Amino acid sequence: MSVAPGSGLISLINGFVDRAIGADGLSPHVRDKLLRQQLGSVTRMTPAMLVASVVVSAVFLILTWQTTRFWPILAAIGVILMIGLHGTYLAFVHPQDNTDAPPRRSVMRTIVYALLLGSLWGFVLSVLPMDQDPAIRGAATIGAGGLLCVSMMALVNYPQALAAFSIPLIIGALGTVLGLDTTPDVWVHGTLLMGFTFVMVIITLNHAAAFVAHRASETQLKEKREIIGLLLREFEQSTSDWIWGFDAEGAINRMSGGFTAATGVSEEALLGADFVHFLRCITPPGDPLMAHAERDVQGRQTFQDIELRVTADGKECWWSLTGKPAYDESGNYLGYIGTGSDITERKVAERRITILAHHDPMTGLLNRTKFTEQLNSCVARLERYGTPFSVMFLDLDQFKSVNDSRGHMAGDRLLTQVARRIQAMVRETDLVARLGGDEFAVILPNDCNVESVGGLAARMIEDIRRAYVIDDDQVNIGVSIGIAMAPMNGTRPDQILRNADLALYRAKADGRSVYRFFESQMDSEARERRLLEVELRDAIQNNELVLYYQPLVSADDGKPTGFEALVRWNHPIRGLVPPAEFIPIAEQSNLIVDIGDWTIVQACLAAVNWPDHLTVAVNLSAKHFRRSDISLVVKRALAVSGLAAPRLEIEITEGLLMENPEEVVEKLGEIRALGVTIAMDDFGTGYSSLSYLLKFPFDKIKIDRSFVDASSDDEVARDILKAIASLGKTLKLKITAEGVETREQAEFLSEIACHQLQGFYFARPLDHIDLPHYLLTHVLPRAPALKAEAEAKLTALAG
Ligand code: C2E
Ligand code: CA
Ligand code: CA
Repeated sequence: MSVAPGSGLISLINGFVDRAIGADGLSPHVRDKLLRQQLGSVTRMTPAMLVASVVVSAVFLILTWQTTRFWPILAAIGVILMIGLHGTYLAFVHPQDNTDAPPRRSVMRTIVYALLLGSLWGFVLSVLPMDQDPAIRGAATIGAGGLLCVSMMALVNYPQALAAFSIPLIIGALGTVLGLDTTPDVWVHGTLLMGFTFVMVIITLNHAAAFVAHRASETQLKEKREIIGLLLREFEQSTSDWIWGFDAEGAINRMSGGFTAATGVSEEALLGADFVHFLRCITPPGDPLMAHAERDVQGRQTFQDIELRVTADGKECWWSLTGKPAYDESGNYLGYIGTGSDITERKVAERRITILAHHDPMTGLLNRTKFTEQLNSCVARLERYGTPFSVMFLDLDQFKSVNDSRGHMAGDRLLTQVARRIQAMVRETDLVARLGGDEFAVILPNDCNVESVGGLAARMIEDIRRAYVIDDDQVNIGVSIGIAMAPMNGTRPDQILRNADLALYRAKADGRSVYRFFESQMDSEARERRLLEVELRDAIQNNELVLYYQPLVSADDGKPTGFEALVRWNHPIRGLVPPAEFIPIAEQSNLIVDIGDWTIVQACLAAVNWPDHLTVAVNLSAKHFRRSDISLVVKRALAVSGLAAPRLEIEITEGLLMENPEEVVEKLGEIRALGVTIAMDDFGTGYSSLSYLLKFPFDKIKIDRSFVDASSDDEVARDILKAIASLGKTLKLKITAEGVETREQAEFLSEIACHQLQGFYFARPLDHIDLPHYLLTHVLPRAPALKAEAEAKLTALAG
C-alpha cells in the first residue's frame, strides 16, 4: 500500500482497516485521492476538536484546582492545546484535499498527533482524583464520553487516526474506572465505557465504509468523465466530426463547435432546443430517413450513420448522424449522445459517379444500362398496375458518312445536337437514351396511343432532318424509327426490345427516314429472314444462283448496246427469288462477298461469248465493295474470262460514296484505271447525288426508274429528267434511263438526248434460254458475218 507511513505495524493496521472499510480493492491512485479526502476531513474537524478540548480542559482544571493533580493535569492540557492549535493552524494553511504530492507526512503527523492527544487525554483521565469528589467522577465520565464523541465525529472518516486517539484514551479511562473503590461503580462505568466503545467502533467502520464507497465511486466517475472529455476533445480535434447530445426531455445539452458551425445557428439558440424538432425543420418534409431516425429515438435505439439531406446555414448539404441513448448507473435514461459529420462532398461525388454510371457522357442522355433498368421498371409497372408504354428505336441514316468524312469530333458534335433535338421533343417524363453509336431509344411511359406516338415519331423525323451546322458547315442527316408498344407488342423486356428493333429494321428497309410500328408479321418475317440466310449459304455451292440479262438499248435506234446482269436465286421450293429479297440478307452476313465475286466472274464469262460491241453491266453492293479488295476481284474476273476491260461496266449506288468517300474514290479509280466503266445507279434517289458526281469522274449515270415512271404524267419529273440530261452533256457523261415501260417514255427520253434506255418496253431480264434467242433476233441481223459466228457459238453452248 502506497500510504504505509513507515513502520510495519502501521502498515499492518492500515491493511486491516482498509479491508474493513472496503478500500483495499481500489487502484493506487484512487486510494491516494481517497486518503487525501480522509485527511482533509480530519483537518477540517480539528478546530472543533480544539474547542471541545478547551471546554473539557477548563472543567477539569476548575475541578482539580487546589488538588495535588492540578499541575500534572495543567501540563498535559497545555501540550494538548498546543497540538490542537498547531493542527488548527495547519487546517487553515494547507487544506489537504487538493495537494498533489503523496500525503505521507500528513498521514504520519495525523496519526502521531492523534496518538499523542489520545495518550495525553488518557493520562489526564487516569490522574483525575475520582474518589475524592463525586462531581469529579461525573465530570470525568461526561468528559471522557464527550471527547470520544467529538473525536469520533472528527476522525470517523479516518479510522486509523480514530484508533490512535481513542485506544490510549480508553485505556486511561479504564485505568481510572478500575481504580474506583466500590464494585458497583466499576461495573456501571466499565460497562458504559465498553458499550460506548463498541458502538463507536461499529459506527465508525460503517461510516468509513460508506464514505469510502461514496468517495471512491465519485472519484472514479469524475475520472471517467475527465477521460471521456479528453477523448472527445481529441476526437474533435483530429476529425471533422462533431458532437451533439440531448437530455431526457430531448433538449440539446451538448454540442461541439463543429455542430454550431454545421448548423449555422448560435450555441445559445441551440442549447435547450428540441433536437428532433430541429432536425425535422431542416430536413425535407416526409423524409423517410428522418422518420427512421425519429423512430429510433422514440424507441431509444442506437442509430448509426443515418444520412440526412438538410438545409443548414442556407445551403443544401448532407449529414451523417450516429446516436446512442445514455443511461446513468441506476439505468435511468439521460438522453442521447452522438456524433455527426458533413458528408456533402462525398454525396456530391457519389451523385456524380451515379450520373456517370447512368448516363452517356457525350450526350448526357441515359446509357444502355440505365435504359434497360428503366425498361424493367416500366414492365414491372405494367404487370402491377397495367400501365401501358411505348418504346421507340431511332437509328440515324448516313451518320457513318459524316463521321468518316468530317472526323469523329464532328460526328460527336452532331450526335450531341441530335440528342438535344430528341430531348427537346419529348415530355419530361419520357426517357431518352443513347444505346451506342448512332442508335437512340425513347421510352414513353403511359403512352401507347398510335396517333400520338406516330405523330411524335413523324415530328422527330422532320426535326432531325433539319440541317445542322458543324464547323461552319451544313450537315444533313436522317433518322429511321421503329416503335413497339407494351402490352400489345410484348410484355417482356426482351420481347419489346426485339419488336422495336424489327420495326426499325422495317423502317430502314422501307427506304429510311420513316417510322414503322411493330406488326406481328414482322416477327414471322424475321424468322423467314433467318431461314433464308441459312439456305442462302448453300445456294452458291448448289448452283442455285442464276444471272438474268436485261438489254440496254441505244436511245437513237433502239438497238442493244449491252446487258445488265441481274441475279436471281432459283430456290428449289420457293422458285425464283428476286434479289430485293435476298441481297439485303446476304449483305448482313459475309455472303455478299461470295455472291458478288461469283456474279462478276459469271457476267464476264457470259459476255465473252457475245458480239464484241456488247457490254455487260454488273451491280456491285457497297458492302461487297468495302469488304474485299474489289480491284483485285475485277482484275481476276477479267483474266479468268478474257473479257476486254472496256466491255465491263460496274454499277454502284451513291450509298457506297456516302461512307468513307476518299477511300472509295481511290478504289474506284483503280478499277477505272483498268479500263472498266463506272456507272452511278439509281441516280436522283439519294440525298446528294449531285455532289457525288463531282467527287468521282463517273462514265455514266443511270436515272432512277421512279423519275421515268413519274414522267408520264408529271411535268416536274419531266423537267428533272431534262435537267439531268443536260447536266450529263455538260459533264460529258453517258446518260441511261431505266424502267422505260412505254413508247411515250422512250420517245420523250430520246428527245431530251438520253443516250441509253432500259426497261420492260424493250425487254425483260432474260434467262439463259431467252438470251440466245434475243441475241439472234436483235443483234445478229445487223452483221451477217457475226451472225454465222454467233450461231456456231450458240450451237456449242446449247450442246
Ligand atoms: P437495279 O440495279 O435498279 O436493277 C433494275 C431493276 O429494275 C431490276 O430488278 C429489273 O428487273 C427492274 N426493271 C427493269 N426494267 C423495268 C421496268 O421497265 N419496270 C420495272 N418496274 N422494273 C424494271 P431486279 O432484277 O429485281 O433487281 C432489283 C435490284 O436488285 C437491282 O436494281 C439491283 O440494285 C439489285 N441487284 C440485282 N442483281 C444484283 C446483283 O447481281 N448484285 C447486286 N449487288 N445487286 C443486284
Ligand atoms: Ca443496276
Ligand atoms: Ca437502278
